[in-house]
Amino acid sequence: MNLVLLYQDDFVSEGLVRLSGRRLEHIRSVHRVKVGDELTVGLLDGKIGKGRLLTLANDCLEMQVELKETPPAKLPLTLVLALPRPKVLNRVIAAATSLGVSRIYLVNAWRVEKSYWKSPRLAEENLLLQRLLGLEQAKDTQLPELHLRRLLRPFAEAELPDLAAHTLALVAHPGALEPCPRNLEQPVTLAIGPEGGFIPAEIELLVRSGFQAVDLGPRILRVETAVAALVARLF
Ligand code: SAH
Repeated sequence: MNLVLLYQDDFVSEGLVRLSGRRLEHIRSVHRVKVGDELTVGLLDGKIGKGRLLTLANDCLEMQVELKETPPAKLPLTLVLALPRPKVLNRVIAAATSLGVSRIYLVNAWRVEKSYWKSPRLAEENLLLQRLLGLEQAKDTQLPELHLRRLLRPFAEAELPDLAAHTLALVAHPGALEPCPRNLEQPVTLAIGPEGGFIPAEIELLVRSGFQAVDLGPRILRVETAVAALVARLF
């Protein structure tokens, strides 16, 4: 972690935090800190700054923190992502968070295996943890929204038109006639398909909801690579 995320509950008094558990273990084993050392810290959904280690014991550490800087700006980007298979899910959520995505919708699609929706990785707790890890990686504090939508059609008909409105709404689809645009300034809503891709009826549904299909070139990328390539190209 390049930044230690802090929560309001960590504060034992003004400017003094006490940490245990995952963050303590990580700071101890990876940062190998000693009393007096400084670490980059940030308050969840708040400012970032420095923390100076005051005490380090087996079960907790204490830091004096000063939080003055604003976190990096989020991208004006909503991702609509066909639910990836469980092994890939954690990486995709953490990477999308690190890249600065503002909002993520995990949606169903024809080629999403039903069993993926039963994965324990979809537990609220895990989806939060992956976003926290993504924030810590990118020195960010602003948690992206994450929503699950288990039925694509009602979501596409009831919610997607509003999400797409006032944004450039794109669906990445290999072989689409339009190339994916570059270096945009405006907000974007971006749909990315499952490993097997969106089926034609889903592309039509998305187009009816205001999306345009765009192509990234002749190489078919894995979902996690496609997310990174698309974000880097769009902004
Ligand atoms: N098997 C599918 C590809 C799925 S790749 C096929 O051959 O069509 C998973 C998702 O990543 C796609 O649905 C798309 O959203 C995105 N993607 C990967 N490579 C892409 C490319 N070259 N152009 C556009 N989208 C791409």
